[in-house]
Amino acid sequence: MAEKKEPGILYLCPTPIGNLEDITLRVLRVLKEVDYIAAEDTRVTRKLLNHYGIKTPLTSYREHNRAEKGEEIVRDLLEGKSVALVSDAGTPGISDPGEDLVKKAVEAGIRVVPLPGPSAVICAVAASGLSTGKFVFEGFLPQKSSERRKRLAELKDEERTIVFYEAPHRLLKSLSDIREILGNRRITVAREMTKVHEEFFRGSVEEAVMRYRSEPPRGEIVLVLEGFRGEKPETGGIDLEDEESRRLLLDRIRTYMNQGMDKKKAMKTAAKELGVSRREAYKLLVESEKE
Ligand code: SAM
Repeated sequence: MAEKKEPGILYLCPTPIGNLEDITLRVLRVLKEVDYIAAEDTRVTRKLLNHYGIKTPLTSYREHNRAEKGEEIVRDLLEGKSVALVSDAGTPGISDPGEDLVKKAVEAGIRVVPLPGPSAVICAVAASGLSTGKFVFEGFLPQKSSERRKRLAELKDEERTIVFYEAPHRLLKSLSDIREILGNRRITVAREMTKVHEEFFRGSVEEAVMRYRSEPPRGEIVLVLEGFRGEKPETGGIDLEDEESRRLLLDRIRTYMNQGMDKKKAMKTAAKELGVSRREAYKLLVESEKE
């Protein structure tokens, strides 16, 4: 009778999120020793392997083939092969197809060994300057506007720091929705971490909207948003010395009036939302009406 082989191990191997030096000695050793590496983008991983002189065979495991390929990998693991899973960047299994393979492996009784290493969410939270004691990770917000807004509305009372992954072409829309639905809180926009153009924008959501409206963002982004703090935002709102901020407040008041609110209510709502006092909003409105 043929001897039954012990199942192999699925190793979760974090890879750099930009800077190639951000990889642990243990990850490099495991990548060398496994039977093969399942990679989200084999071209990206090939570059990394070439950089470190690793010649282990690669196979593609990504969103589009995860169903069949996942089963194939689990079969190999059950037959005793050892496999390293890597994503494009960061920790596999966090907001990427690795999640699915880990579920399948766990269901099949395979040992899953996570190796510590880079993850965009942890880097962003750690450097955010916001409360890090308790935070929730929301992954990517829905792409469809109505679903995104619904999700944000569900987070209205969330007191913990909230973390989102975001794509540059959707950043402004998401920031505007956050401002409108969750109010003008503190936010850190962590962009291109560990890369040449690494940047942490720290300010209010309103300031972030203005910044990225005038300078469209590029690269990879994590948003770290302050949790709900009650009625009053922790920092001041928009700066009415600024022409664009004044226009924004007036636009907001007029939008509410067009939606049927009376002038007083529209002014009060817009002022609260943008973090300015009612008196300042009233003064601005009166001045604009004189012009
Ligand atoms: N599994 C990965 C991890 O642990 O970080 C995340 C995969 S997810 C598909 C990719 C997202 O992570 C990007 O869209 C961006 O939101 C974030 N991200 C990855 N690298 C980043 C970086 N260098 N700077 C900022 N955000 C980054």
